[in-house]
Amino acid sequence: MDFRKRFVAKKKSFRLTDHDPDDTAGFDDEAVAGEQARENTQKLEKLQSVLYAEHKRAILIVLQGMDAAGKDGTIKHVMSGVNPQGCQVTAFKQPSHEELDHDFLWRIHKAMPPRGDIGIFNRSHYEDVLVVRVHNLAPKEVWSDRFRQIREFEDMLYRNQVVILKFFLNISKAEQEKRFQARVGDPDRNWKSSDADFTERKFWSEYQDAYQDAIQKTSRAHAPWYVIPSNHKWFRNMAISAIIVDAMKELNLRYPVLPEAKKPTGKPA
Ligand code: AMP
Ligand code: MG
Repeated sequence: MDFRKRFVAKKKSFRLTDHDPDDTAGFDDEAVAGEQARENTQKLEKLQSVLYAEHKRAILIVLQGMDAAGKDGTIKHVMSGVNPQGCQVTAFKQPSHEELDHDFLWRIHKAMPPRGDIGIFNRSHYEDVLVVRVHNLAPKEVWSDRFRQIREFEDMLYRNQVVILKFFLNISKAEQEKRFQARVGDPDRNWKSSDADFTERKFWSEYQDAYQDAIQKTSRAHAPWYVIPSNHKWFRNMAISAIIVDAMKELNLRYPVLPEAKKPTGKPA
């Protein structure tokens, strides 16, 4: 199955409501999907090792979604085979005073993966057109111009050999409630919850509108958004890992070939 084709957000016609968070693309066997996800993880490990050796391109993976959508879980599962040397995860929280004194992309640009690396953003520059919009943290004139700024920024990255893959982890409101309750009742996981999560939930439909707009305005062939049905964690892991593998395969990554004169002879120079 070509998960990229199935889940990519097509720019003009994109409607978030057309995407079912419960969709499993015909898969119904969790064990089979789990096996496939593991195979993808192994492929990813090999691809990453060539990416690192080639040292020409960087991969940027952007993860967005409502609270409890599974951003942390995706990182844990999908990247489990990846060599930590060559991969970095950045979680974007509320901006610091210093960050607020700069343009909104300043902290983002600083966190970009260098050539040869995979960078994962747990939240991203998209928060500046999501939470900022929903809570009026900036006037409309300010956040609405950011769609263009984001497109231009991502164009620039693309022209500098950064491969951008953006994932929206699509869960339903009912699934979020279920996950919140499970967290509250679990002493090992209730640290992840706060009363603020329950307050944010009140803004569910405002967030859906903001996501709809952000995805519609910034999904392009060279910086696509994938809307991943995420009510089922096993499906989410399989689909995301498959998309990353397919995108990396397409790069035709190659180990560097040394010119004859530079090949090591195994003797002191
Ligand atoms: P978490 O991902 O659960 O650790 O929460 C991080 C929090 O930081 C979320 O509530 C985000 O909405 C918030 N956040 C991230 N980026 C921004 C931003 N640019 N402006 C305001 N809040 C942000
Ligand atoms: Mg949270």
